[in-house]
Amino acid sequence: MRKIILLLTLLIAFIVKVEASSQQTVTKLSSSELMTSLTQKKWLHGAEDCSTNQDPAIEVFQYDESSYIFRQSKCLSYEAPFIYVFVGDKKILVVDTGATADKNEFPLYETVLSIQENHALTKQDNSREIVVIHSHSHSDHYSGDSQFIGQENATVVGTAEGDINYFFSFKSWPTKLSEIDLGGRIITIIPTPGHQEQAISIYDSQTQWLLTGDTFYPGYIYVKNWQAYQASISRLTDFASKHTVSAILGAHIEMKANGKEYYEIGTIYQPDEASLVLQPEDLVELNAVLSQMDDAGIITLNTLIVEPLGFLPKLISSIVGLFL
Ligand SMILES: [Zn+2]
Ligand SMILES: [Zn+2]
Repeated sequence: MRKIILLLTLLIAFIVKVEASSQQTVTKLSSSELMTSLTQKKWLHGAEDCSTNQDPAIEVFQYDESSYIFRQSKCLSYEAPFIYVFVGDKKILVVDTGATADKNEFPLYETVLSIQENHALTKQDNSREIVVIHSHSHSDHYSGDSQFIGQENATVVGTAEGDINYFFSFKSWPTKLSEIDLGGRIITIIPTPGHQEQAISIYDSQTQWLLTGDTFYPGYIYVKNWQAYQASISRLTDFASKHTVSAILGAHIEMKANGKEYYEIGTIYQPDEASLVLQPEDLVELNAVLSQMDDAGIITLNTLIVEPLGFLPKLISSIVGLFL
């Protein structure tokens, strides 16, 4: 009798183990399905006639339980920047605040607050601090800051060099990395100047996304400081080779889906735009071309185009902080 009981116990333990491992497989599959859904996602892409367009000001895409991507409507700003929101156990990170300040036209703070509230309901915790940082200091990435400044439980990291160095405590810009802990979710900050002096890239340990702002995205990338950009792409490539990167996600889409062609600056309707998702091999390809160039020049790849910024736009960019 004892033997039978022992055998039955072993059999049940075996069945439970098989069940658990098959559940793990299901979870793995669904995360790859999640990535496919992101790669194939068609974002709201503006309209031929924006006066009759009914798109929301902010398109919200929830990737997993605690990771969100927002896209600003093309009818509100042709830049249509992407904004990333990561929820940790203690903090909510908002990467960029878009191209529009007006909370009535562009209710960004309200949208982040609704995410905070949703997570508070499920975890009985409404005290998560909202931390706003920026991929870089161009106005299409920080204009919504005013909605967060002065709000209880929100910290906005300024866009000036001093603010960034103070908050991230970089030991040596641009060669050393920094980290933020959102509570069970580590975010790595990688200095990547070149498109703009204060540009950073951001790696999320949970989604394994590498966020690259305007430094690397499927579009027409202007580079202000070519040498700094070459070095940044080299360091970024090195980082991506040493970490698992599921997707590289930038702040705009300007390329067309067929590759090499792009939508001109100012376009408000992009029915045939490329995927937002780039891969580490795309970064490797750009780095290989860049590292062989002695002088600045235009690079045309299937996934993106890189061009050194001319003298006059560079000057304007430095004076008004407003360019691309
Ligand atoms: Zn931009
Ligand atoms: Zn920019």
